[in-house]
Amino acid sequence: MKDSAESYIRPLVRRLRAYVPGEQPKVRGLVKLNTNENPYPPSPKVLRAIRAAVDSRLRLYPNPTAEQLREKLAALHHCRPANIIVGNGSDELLALATRAFVEPESACPPNPRSRAVVQFFAPSYTLYPVLADIAGARSNPVPLAADFALPAITELTARCWDFQAALTFITTPNAPTGRGYATAELEELCLKQGGVILLDEAYVDFARENAMALALRHPHVLVARTFSKAYSLCFQRIGYFVGHETLIAALQKIRDSYNVNGLGQIAALATLADLPYYRRGFKRIIASRQRLSSELTQLGFSVLPSQANFIFARPPKFPAEVWLQKLRARKVLVRWFSSPETRDWLRITIGTDADADALLRAASAALDG
Ligand code: PMP
Repeated sequence: MKDSAESYIRPLVRRLRAYVPGEQPKVRGLVKLNTNENPYPPSPKVLRAIRAAVDSRLRLYPNPTAEQLREKLAALHHCRPANIIVGNGSDELLALATRAFVEPESACPPNPRSRAVVQFFAPSYTLYPVLADIAGARSNPVPLAADFALPAITELTARCWDFQAALTFITTPNAPTGRGYATAELEELCLKQGGVILLDEAYVDFARENAMALALRHPHVLVARTFSKAYSLCFQRIGYFVGHETLIAALQKIRDSYNVNGLGQIAALATLADLPYYRRGFKRIIASRQRLSSELTQLGFSVLPSQANFIFARPPKFPAEVWLQKLRARKVLVRWFSSPETRDWLRITIGTDADADALLRAASAALDG
């Protein structure tokens, strides 16, 4: 029975290995430092705006293009609403980008194959290769340099970088490493690159620099942002792209008619009206990041400098995968990625100061135990 049902599924989908999101635990009382959520709640004004919107209008469709939100975002980024598309989280938009800009490999002659190439650095966001697989495209993961820095342009060719790849994703600051990249360095790469470059700035509010100017200066550069991390709105699923209006119009054509839910649009608008509240949160998270990095270093962890709301730390004494279990046994959840470049490291979200205390206690106990 199972076999015959399988036969209805496209071979590409049958073979597909789905993206694995971080665990959302069912047990209570865990210190949850595994999915880079913000430890601080949305602003009280945002909560009030959402509550006030829960009425009979829930029966109506929301604005199909998130028009008001795009207007406010355009004012924030000094561009026009036509330069912005809003999505059901930035994940939805990353998927739309593969659909809009990348051909399936089956549609491309062997030479040139670049129209079917989705390129990204390794390690970076593990969704990108899954999106390439879904599109029937070819992933081109290119290793980062030592300490996870961007390789120099002259080194890229040796690493099999494709300067004509249809779509190149760059996570900046990088996830899971937390490394920030200088805008000048990113621009140098953008100027050499033939296809579309997507600068995924999911964590940029915790960084020193952002590269938004590149999306407004170069027609092949898009910047992705999200309300999930810095603006405490994972639950509402709001992300957006900024870029050339022709690329944005192509993405608008292929999205679902009502891709952004109404309460999410209201929440995001109220967020933009209360940015100082969030900026205070960024400062607290950056201060906790510094403290946690130095205290873990004292315990023998090797901690990379981070520009994000998480740190990437190589633990002492036991393999990182064992640390994952040891911390979990002490009710602290962190993230571990099994790929060769990342398997010696743990990615630890910056929570509250109390969360940091709990992690440090658990780590000390694990070292003694
Ligand atoms: N980009 C990166 C690098 C991420 O880590 C995430 C969150 N997992 C996203 C994009 C997507 O975030 P969202 O869909 O919540 O906007």
